[in-house]
Amino acid sequence: MRTGLIHVYTGNGTGKTTSAVGLAVRAKSHGFKMLFAQFMKDGNGGGETDILKEIGVEVLAFEEVLSPVFHPEADREALRQETLKAIESLKPKLKEFDMVVLDEFNCVLGEGLLTVAEALEFMRGKPERLELVLTGRGAPRNIIDLADHVTEMKDVKHPFQEGIGARPGIDY
Ligand code: ATP
Ligand code: MG
Repeated sequence: MRTGLIHVYTGNGTGKTTSAVGLAVRAKSHGFKMLFAQFMKDGNGGGETDILKEIGVEVLAFEEVLSPVFHPEADREALRQETLKAIESLKPKLKEFDMVVLDEFNCVLGEGLLTVAEALEFMRGKPERLELVLTGRGAPRNIIDLADHVTEMKDVKHPFQEGIGARPGIDY
């Protein structure tokens, strides 16, 4: 039986979600049963989620898990409860897939909606054969230590600094 690894894409540079999408496409093309789940996004991630669905990747958006930074009006405790619900709903799902991507998982931790201890328990409970891919800036040390494959995207130069905003097809 194949042993699945835990992959983390973190860092302050661009490319974490893009890499996870790329990995999902590659895995799918090798016949993996794929789940691509997003936190803090509304599931209308433009092309990326639509195209993943088109190639047979199951896409899930935990829309109710909002970023408290971008939604300061939202009740933090309610957001935390939504996050715990999302994590619970993922547990049985992990058994159904060969690879599961949790996009912006680290941000959920960074914004205090899930504790590191809860995240570690979730990660340790993954089926052995599952490839688990976590993205998001600011991965905590313990998550990095538990993961098998960690890549840090480093921001060297970003067009935003030149006044170029996010562009469809490039940044989303
Ligand atoms: P991508 O989705 O392009 O792979 P990412 O997942 O690595 O990026 P996130 O941390 O999720 O990036 O950030 C979301 C958005 O913030 C991206 O569209 C990215 O281009 C943008 N971003 C990243 N770094 C900067 C920066 N220094 N200034 C402005 N915007 C930035
Ligand atoms: Mg991202």
